[in-house]
Amino acid sequence: MRDRVLLKISGEALGGSSSIGYDPSFIKALISDIANVHQKGIEIAIVVGGGNLFRGKQSEALGMRTASGDQMGMLATIMNGIALRDVFHSHGIPCDLLSSLACPSVCDIFSGSRGREILSQGKILICVGGTGSPYFTTDTASVTMAAALNCSTLMKGTKFPGVFSKDPAKFPDAQHFEHISYRQVLSERLHVMDMTAFEIAQKEKLPIIVFSLFQPNPISAVLAKTCQFTVVNDRGNQMASSC
Ligand code: UDP
Repeated sequence: MRDRVLLKISGEALGGSSSIGYDPSFIKALISDIANVHQKGIEIAIVVGGGNLFRGKQSEALGMRTASGDQMGMLATIMNGIALRDVFHSHGIPCDLLSSLACPSVCDIFSGSRGREILSQGKILICVGGTGSPYFTTDTASVTMAAALNCSTLMKGTKFPGVFSKDPAKFPDAQHFEHISYRQVLSERLHVMDMTAFEIAQKEKLPIIVFSLFQPNPISAVLAKTCQFTVVNDRGNQMASSC
């Protein structure tokens, strides 16, 4: 059976160094790396965030309802998914889009069975619309979808090459973890993803690889183990199966 991974890309990453909007050269390079990994036989589902366009909390300043702001955030993820799908298509890579937030004139609704079918057909799957419900994040969507799609590993692309003992942007002496257990992440209050998402990952024993998207060919580098990253699992001392 081919390995199947879920890749979480934050919306901010699509904005490159500015974190806002779209950085075409960053996106093209990322898509080309994902396509190379896919061509090597790894099935890839992608959950994309929306923070480069809109986050629910930005609606507070307008006096909007939280749920309305969150709907705007989820719509932002759909916009990002449309962009990524078309970049894959422009590279000749088969790719389908499913959304948890119904948007029937754009794409089909997400279900685990439809998603698994698309992946088995050898297409890249992009999942958008978060969980489809306000008050959640696309981190939670990525964990629940990884479980629904039978993914072996969740690869979470961030600004930093893994999990550190403290914020590496503020503390140059921050210690990098090569492997860490869910329990240690919780006891040391380290940040991997939001708590709801993390607790589901721990319950499902879903290994999480935290790595930097801001390096050449980031996904290939992690899979070839030629870069720094962190594996979070229930043992904290062994590599996840796909790495
Ligand atoms: N969002 C939501 N429910 C979800 C996922 C996302 O309401 O299940 C909204 C929320 O307002 C969030 C925005 O969509 O701020 C963008 O998602 P997220 O912040 O997770 O994106 P990222 O940080 O990954 O770019």
